[in-house]
Amino acid sequence: MARIIESETLRQLNGVELIASENLVSRAVLEAMGSIMTNKYAEGYPGKRYYGGCEFHDQAENLARDRVKELFGAEHANVQPHSGTQANMAVYFSVMQCGVDRMMSMSLTQGGHLSHGSPVSFSGKMYEVHQYGVDLTSETLDYGAVEEQARRVKPKVIVCGASAYPREIDFKAFQEIADGVDAYCMADIAHIAGLCAAGIHPNPTGVVDFVTSTTHKTLRGPRGGFILCGEEYAQSIDKAVFPGMQGGPLMHTIAAKAVCFAEALRPTYREYARQIVLNAQTMATVLDDAGLRLVSGGTDNHLILIDLSNRGITGLEAEEALGRAGITVNKNTIPNENRSPFVTSGLRIGTPAVTSRGMKESEMRTIGRWIARVLEDITNESVIRQVAGEVTEMASRYPLHPE
Ligand SMILES: *Cc1c(COP(=O)(O)O)cnc(C)c1O
Repeated sequence: MARIIESETLRQLNGVELIASENLVSRAVLEAMGSIMTNKYAEGYPGKRYYGGCEFHDQAENLARDRVKELFGAEHANVQPHSGTQANMAVYFSVMQCGVDRMMSMSLTQGGHLSHGSPVSFSGKMYEVHQYGVDLTSETLDYGAVEEQARRVKPKVIVCGASAYPREIDFKAFQEIADGVDAYCMADIAHIAGLCAAGIHPNPTGVVDFVTSTTHKTLRGPRGGFILCGEEYAQSIDKAVFPGMQGGPLMHTIAAKAVCFAEALRPTYREYARQIVLNAQTMATVLDDAGLRLVSGGTDNHLILIDLSNRGITGLEAEEALGRAGITVNKNTIPNENRSPFVTSGLRIGTPAVTSRGMKESEMRTIGRWIARVLEDITNESVIRQVAGEVTEMASRYPLHPE
């Protein structure tokens, strides 16, 4: 196992990581996660545990809760969900009845997430799901259409938030639509949490009924989830998480979440978040100049969606070719997709991880040109080999851990 971890360390060090949902954590986050906090059962909540010896775990969980409340301006926080999917599950469990209630969410092929009601996820099996998409001309959310659908469907919950949407989301508009049909509104900010925390993207906390998120994407913490809500929902959310859906919390992860939240509260983090967006916009300009079609024409956040359908190559082929060049991206469906999710017509590119390594606009221009060169002819192995050499040469000069 040590050899495998060493190999993975070298892969991360020598490559360019552009998967929009990934990031690189600090040594402090890593240290908390790898600590003896993993040794303890702490079922329950601070002050109300089902095990003895939890005094320091109470302190750790309170610290994590206080910090995340400060970071987003929330009344109540639950930091126990093991993942983003489980944060969503807890909100659904707290307000919807299985087999009875309806929900609305963004379709997976147009940017939504599996846990928002895909038929292969628990969410699609337990609830009646109606999905909205983007306007196919502007490739951005059409709030009027969402409102019209909500009036027709009368859902119990309207979910907003996405995994592959490059534009700003108007959370206030979603809450107003939900209010109009007597539904709850849940904003899943898994991807953009770091941007919301830093004030680069509007923060839905206090605007919508429930906010869910992961901690490991732009927020740059350990893998995990959390939920924010008003005081009136605190008890039902806490019950839905434990004992409703999980057993003992992962206390080493909660310790690492507390460290991540402290890092995100620092002024340097705001700079980091600003740089993520600047980097994405810089790369988008280079890709656009190279003749690649960007979904919605560009980006407001950390990610870019490339539509390859006019290039005669699939997302899968592009992902594999860039992978051979040491550039890690993922294939992604695009609005109006006509291929399977295993093949796709698009590529999703994100800048959180490269920005954590300290790369700025000039490196983004270089990376953008590498991507354009590889995609120009994905069968040209000599170009791919040449780019691979340049990738390793550049990437290995940047630290793997942010300050
Ligand atoms: C990544 C993501 C999640 C789920 O996160 P996991 O921790 O993988 O369960 C949920 N919602 C959205 C919008 C996401 O992008």
